[in-house]
Amino acid sequence: MASPDLFHDVSFSHVSAAASPAEDTAGATAVFGGDASSGCPRLSLVWPGEPRAKHTLEMDLSDAQVFKLGPTELLCVNGESEATDAVEEKSYSRAIKVVLRTEAESKAFYLAFQRWKHGVISGKAGEPLENGVIIASKSKFDTKIEASSAKMYFHYYGQLLHQQNMLQDFVRTGTYYAAVMENRSDFEGRVVVDVGAGSGILSLFAAQAGARHVYAVEASEMAEHAQRLISGNPSLRQRITVIKGKVEEVELPEKADILISEPMGTLLVNERMLESYVIARDRFLAPDGKMFPTTGRIHMAPFSDEYLYVEMANKALFWQQHNFFGVDLTPLHDSAFQGYFSQPVVDAFDPRLLVSPPTYHTLDFTSMKEEELYEMDIPLNFVASVGTRVHGLACWFDVLFNGSMVQRWLSTAPGSPTTHWYQLRCVLSQPLYVMAGQEITGRLHLVAHSAQSYTIYLTMSAKMWGEGAEQGGILQTSTAKLELKEPYYRLSQPQPYVVQDQQQQQLPSLQPQGSGQQIARKPVAFLLPANNSDLYNREAQRQRRLTRTMTMP
Ligand code: SAH
Repeated sequence: MASPDLFHDVSFSHVSAAASPAEDTAGATAVFGGDASSGCPRLSLVWPGEPRAKHTLEMDLSDAQVFKLGPTELLCVNGESEATDAVEEKSYSRAIKVVLRTEAESKAFYLAFQRWKHGVISGKAGEPLENGVIIASKSKFDTKIEASSAKMYFHYYGQLLHQQNMLQDFVRTGTYYAAVMENRSDFEGRVVVDVGAGSGILSLFAAQAGARHVYAVEASEMAEHAQRLISGNPSLRQRITVIKGKVEEVELPEKADILISEPMGTLLVNERMLESYVIARDRFLAPDGKMFPTTGRIHMAPFSDEYLYVEMANKALFWQQHNFFGVDLTPLHDSAFQGYFSQPVVDAFDPRLLVSPPTYHTLDFTSMKEEELYEMDIPLNFVASVGTRVHGLACWFDVLFNGSMVQRWLSTAPGSPTTHWYQLRCVLSQPLYVMAGQEITGRLHLVAHSAQSYTIYLTMSAKMWGEGAEQGGILQTSTAKLELKEPYYRLSQPQPYVVQDQQQQQLPSLQPQGSGQQIARKPVAFLLPANNSDLYNREAQRQRRLTRTMTMP
């Protein structure tokens, strides 16, 4: 158990209606601590009374809140507080105004309150840590997100291997580092909030760039590792406070000049963390404060990839067997087929697969409303550069760090150095035929859901050519419904379609993967210039290491 935090010479008074006898008590000592038997975090106010009698007012912090009233004044509120003291006084006050001696003490009191309430981290290295966030009322996060999803999500990020995975994405981490260091003037002497600090890496970057103070807010168990990492960097630790909790729920003692965060998921919006970033802006950022990143863009273009299409369609072939151990599997073929096409494909593809120049949809993190992220309806309009079969829509994103000195982009575009986000492709089960110069229209409709992801509704249309077109333009339209939370990570070599004979098709489950002759495993040389398969193999290995596999067990 961490040692209690003590504050001497505190004045306090009851503010609530059911006020207790003590009015404007001075000379009290405030003690934060945990009750070892119940594990309850408590604030005790102890003041001298009649000879030999010591008064104590206890507040259970688990359902308490603290508000800043002025430079040295704070308001502590909870549901029910009980006075236990030597003279049997009892009260049920709900709000207590506490006055500290100095502004610095007031800040320290505030942080101690939060630290003990949320069972967070003592600032000292190597000490055992208190855990278990107890929140009095449902926060914005809790009302939107299913508890089971949040539990798995924060369990995932609580593991160092997943933080390492992100840290080792050098395009990502290097771009953040460059964006911060090239814009030192945005950090020097400033108050910074790191929104979803993870390992604390961005807080450490901000401190390196001269931040006056960094509040590193992290909801998962990773907060403890972050504290240890920060404590182990003595030149920076004085200026970083780790706060374990959700940005929707924790309170900070001062406003921030700049927010730094890495809230991007697949297709930018997966994980729904951008909403937390925007909420953090509204809660913590001073007017005219900066945000790193500042804006994000979702880029989209139609693509043509026959190999990918056949690979996906082939997966459902299994269900076309009429005699699988004597069972006809075909009744489930159509469902299986639709199931495969409901998975967006995550991999790195060659930009030459794009059928027309991309368009983009911008999200301005500094001005957008959180609600705008609940549903996005993006109109699509392209002109095909070549005549081909269009197999769907390829998507990627970039974000801008709009620094005072340097503007830096972090891009996940095809053809750019690969990141752990790769790119995302929504594949249509019914491809479209287009001619060069032909218009492709449609819409990408993203609808957020409570499992921290989105349902994707894609519609793509093209006018038919030939006889139909001449007679007034018959539209071919293809639609798809995809689940962003369940992507198909296609990071190894694809398996081109090879017709199998009847006998082999009947017993697919008995053939060990890749051992027989019947499945040709071709390197994806078609994606890369000749002689590049070595390069591909190295890239594929790198990709396997780097996936941000948000598929939960
Ligand atoms: N900033 C780190 C980690 C980025 S991953 C880095 O750049 O390496 C996103 C982190 O945000 C995860 O650790 C996750 O647990 C945390 N997070 C997500 N939503 C959060 C929320 N609402 N409140 C606090 N932390 C959150």
